[in-house]
Amino acid sequence: MVAQAVVITGAASGIGRACVELFAARGFGVVAVDADEAGLADLAADAGSAEPPASSAPPAPPASQPAACLDGAVRPRLVTLVADVSTPECGARMTELALASFGRLDVAVLNAGIGGTVPWEADGAIERLDRILAVNVRGVAIGIRSVAPALRAGGGGSIVVTASSGGLQADPGNWAYHASKGAVINLVRAAAVDYAAQNIRVNAVAPGLTETSLMAPYLSQPAVVEASSQRIPLQRWGRADEQASAVWFLASAAASYITGTTLVADGGLTSHHGAVP
Ligand code: NAD
Repeated sequence: MVAQAVVITGAASGIGRACVELFAARGFGVVAVDADEAGLADLAADAGSAEPPASSAPPAPPASQPAACLDGAVRPRLVTLVADVSTPECGARMTELALASFGRLDVAVLNAGIGGTVPWEADGAIERLDRILAVNVRGVAIGIRSVAPALRAGGGGSIVVTASSGGLQADPGNWAYHASKGAVINLVRAAAVDYAAQNIRVNAVAPGLTETSLMAPYLSQPAVVEASSQRIPLQRWGRADEQASAVWFLASAAASYITGTTLVADGGLTSHHGAVP
């Protein structure tokens, strides 16, 4: 049995995958959740598992779920789940998997998110908004209410949500994403207030520009990376492992008196007015 267990959504790529690696290296049992089945298979293969990922539907008895041992002195374990975080079934299933696989749940990293610019007056703009809100806000709300009973049963725990510096500021054309990340920052505050009495802390990390597949359209343009880096006080984009470190801090006992906050990890981008060169 592992000492502690974590559920991580959006685990197949980028920041979520870096969180899987960090929490596993520190001895956590990990339930890795993602809609990308191939990405999860790749994660499991990296962890030394030949087992296929579990599926969210139809639910199978939790005890039958595959668990893969990673190499390492503490023998951390990894379980994967293919699911869409915007569905209530995902929240229920990932919590069940943690309890069935590890006998406990201590931390949830609700990280899955999507972006995508859309012109205000384009056909399908409101449908795009609906989908972004479904994943980035509804998915987080489902995650919080789903894991809370298991955290409570263990005497408390920590939930860390991946928000965005884009929840604090806006760039042209990205209004739907900005709306979703602004909403999730206040959702985190509200959940922190409601769950504090149950010893469940709820916080957010707000990454700035970070080198992941989400940002591939920008990363493929060196001139864009160069220009944006010049606006960042630290003069570069962040890495997924740097965001995972911020998540780890908020999840850990080092942050035991911190709840309802958003930790901005953006190289100083949102502190930089930028109006005067
Ligand atoms: P990423 O695209 O590398 O990873 C996101 C993962 O989420 C993918 O594996 C994807 O399959 C998964 N996912 C998407 N929709 C899902 C759904 N409905 N159900 C389950 N899984 C789903 O991107 P990333 O940069 O690692 O993004 C992680 C989080 O960080 C997101 O919430 C994103 O908004 C946020 N963020 C990223 C940046 C950045 O610059 N990369 C900046 C600010 C915030």
